[in-house]
Amino acid sequence: MTKRRKPQSELWVTHEVDRTEGATARAANVAAAKSLAETVRTTLGPEGMDKMIVGSDGTVVVTNDGTSILARMDVADPTAKLLVEIAQSQDQSVGDGSTTAVTLAGALLEAAEDLLEMGVHPTTIVNGYRRAGEVAVDRLRAETIDVDPTDEDELRQIGATAVTGKWDDESAQYLSRLAVRGITEVAEGESVDVRNLTLRAVPGGSLRESTVLDGVSIDIGSSSTSLESFSPRLQDTYEPATVALLDAELTIEKADAVSNATISNPSQLRELQSYEESIRVEAVQKLVDLGVDVVFCQKSIDDEIRSRLARVGVLAIERTRQDEMYKVARVTDATLERSVDDVSSAALGRAPHLERRTVGPTELLVVSTAVPGAHLSLLLRGGTEHVAEETKRVLEDCLSVVQLALQGQTVVPGGGAVEFSLACHLRSYAAQTDGREQLAIDSFADALETIPATLAASSGLDPLDTLVDLRARHHRGETTVGVDVIDRSLADMQAKAVFEPLAVKRYALSNALEGATTILRIDDVIAVEQTGDDHRHDHERSGSQHTGGYPWAIGH
Ligand code: ADP
Ligand code: MG
Repeated sequence: MTKRRKPQSELWVTHEVDRTEGATARAANVAAAKSLAETVRTTLGPEGMDKMIVGSDGTVVVTNDGTSILARMDVADPTAKLLVEIAQSQDQSVGDGSTTAVTLAGALLEAAEDLLEMGVHPTTIVNGYRRAGEVAVDRLRAETIDVDPTDEDELRQIGATAVTGKWDDESAQYLSRLAVRGITEVAEGESVDVRNLTLRAVPGGSLRESTVLDGVSIDIGSSSTSLESFSPRLQDTYEPATVALLDAELTIEKADAVSNATISNPSQLRELQSYEESIRVEAVQKLVDLGVDVVFCQKSIDDEIRSRLARVGVLAIERTRQDEMYKVARVTDATLERSVDDVSSAALGRAPHLERRTVGPTELLVVSTAVPGAHLSLLLRGGTEHVAEETKRVLEDCLSVVQLALQGQTVVPGGGAVEFSLACHLRSYAAQTDGREQLAIDSFADALETIPATLAASSGLDPLDTLVDLRARHHRGETTVGVDVIDRSLADMQAKAVFEPLAVKRYALSNALEGATTILRIDDVIAVEQTGDDHRHDHERSGSQHTGGYPWAIGH
């Protein structure tokens, strides 16, 4: 590696820098990004391998999810960090396809490495990749299959594609059913507000005990919400429940004059105590008179008030998280009030059913909804905490794809079928292209083929034979044929109902392209000793050129 030390001579550099330039910089960047992509690649698809990530603090996470892996790896290399950004942006934008995007970016870089060795200029590669990317994204439309958003079976099948392989087939179908039920119940037409869907992973139990709860669930075991008082009059179930929501503390409001008073003799103290007592009695009596069964309080509740409430059978829940307060308000149609004084019967909410339920190691409070479809909770169960959390991650993917499908998005065949079809299309496009960009377009096609090849390898098929067979089938016009990783053969993905939303594929393609070309364009890596001032300087020098959503990249 050619590294040279630069003196402090340049106008805008006021300190020493380490600098790697030209081909050396590019080769190092490509190698770093490629090796990270390789780690993620082997998790692709239903038969992909899991990775165990052991943190420096001893925490262990077992996952198959590209974004989780990258987010948890302690990636020091700056270019490898670009891959982390690819995965994150994929997840944030469309919710699925992060492994595909990172795998494609890695494959594009690997193919570029060969071209660089052959003496193709990086700019030619970047231009060729850009053209290929545009052609591929355009072509994607032609590969789509329409879905009927009202066909729940089809939605379930799409959801199942996002989760197959993480568990056995029946479990995947089971979870996909939960996801479709969750999404369709909170959907209003095509619009889905996922905030109305709470995903809650609780360790213990089996996956099949996962269920949909109609309403809001509050984890009393792990949230700050506490239920300390015990009284035989407190019920586990209220049917229906009248609820009051307090936005502040539930405590005695001391008048300034009283709280600042200096108590000089026992009779004054008694007077103060009886004053406070009367306020407590009044507050409790008011709630009882209003017929309140449960009080949710955003802050703490005076111990004495809580135990008085418990004695009269009113459940008092303190330190309820703000978002949970709002959810309860929504499902019970209650209004948040500042104090007991402000609570009127119009501010109260009603839940058809409110229940304290022990689930695994924790206790949940389930507030069912009076407004149909206002809120649903998906309760996910699974052996250990790791398994339950992984179930939650996978279900998030499932929910995203079902949501996209429901919103009238069309789908493309999965199992590498669409990538292979795009590759075929690009090869014929390359043949009509003059100059060295042709080579880059062909390399783009090679990179796309790594998706079916990886799926084949993961299920024990020979990747090369699979590509040869795929070519024969696609040339015969069977463009929806892909790798059936479950049956370990080639199959028509449309017949098998292995679909993925168009948006996921389109974003994965452009995301991978953007990431790979950004890395290829860097020919200078300068390590700067950061000071606030110099940082601003650098920005001024490079200008604010657009870097395609990569704020850390150097604009060209
Ligand atoms: P990503 O993070 O990219 O979504 P996944 O591990 O979820 O990665 O794998 C997605 C890939 O697996 C897609 O190419 C999808 O078409 C493929 N796939 C999913 N289910 C099946 C199946 N039953 N048969 C074949 N391929 C499948
Ligand atoms: Mg996926």
